[in-house]
Amino acid sequence: MIIFVNMKHFTLLMLAFMMVSACNDAAPGPQVIAHRGFWKAEGAAQNSIAAIRAAGLFGAYGSEFDVNLTGDGQLVVNHDFTYHGLTIADTTYAALRDPSLRLSNGEIIPSLDEYLDASAEFPEMKLIFELKSKGEPAYEAIALPACVEAIERHGVRDRVEFISFSLSACKEFARLMPQNRVEYLGGDIAPKELHGMGINGIDYHFSVFDKNPGWVEEAHSLGMIVNAWTVNEEADILRMLELGVDHITTNEPELTATLIERFASERKK
Ligand code: MG
Repeated sequence: MIIFVNMKHFTLLMLAFMMVSACNDAAPGPQVIAHRGFWKAEGAAQNSIAAIRAAGLFGAYGSEFDVNLTGDGQLVVNHDFTYHGLTIADTTYAALRDPSLRLSNGEIIPSLDEYLDASAEFPEMKLIFELKSKGEPAYEAIALPACVEAIERHGVRDRVEFISFSLSACKEFARLMPQNRVEYLGGDIAPKELHGMGINGIDYHFSVFDKNPGWVEEAHSLGMIVNAWTVNEEADILRMLELGVDHITTNEPELTATLIERFASERKK
């Protein structure tokens, strides 16, 4: 009897799982990416460990973060090329980790390793991995292989979607990890041209899609993902949903999720 009940429950669970999977395959719909993590959550700061955890707890599709290379070849998570007045590319990892230097929430600047370790708590969440680069070949020759090595070592290859303003970094990442999503951020190249370079996504400021609305369909016709940044206002979010973008990168994950839900339910009517 016990076995019978368990089997029944198991069968029901499997059926529910198959239905959810079928729905996901049929219409994944637009997704929310927390820009620099969910940094507006209590106790978080941009690109902090608390921010990626908050994005995971919120249930974001992905959490975006920025990666810089230190002067001694270590990868750290920070948006700017400088940290507390120090140029990261010219500063040692140890100097950046000085306890007197803190993020606004009190954390020490996270290493990429610490960041990826924290992400293990949320294995469903995508890692929207931005390499900060000015396109200098010497910098990218060290930074890109180091990024790939860290991604492999942490076993997160399936979760990484790579983004960069550096076209050369996007091309090289696409060459090194051809099965991964790579989205160029610059906003100045048509999807068709990027596709020809082996880049399979665009992640452009929303104003670029206002000026070139046809780029959404052009990208989709080539099987490319379309991501819009950084969309925080209701009117802008709704306009991007109307245009049919796949991902919305935002500082307002809660508002964006609510608007996506409303947009989807209105579409069904
Ligand atoms: Mg970024």
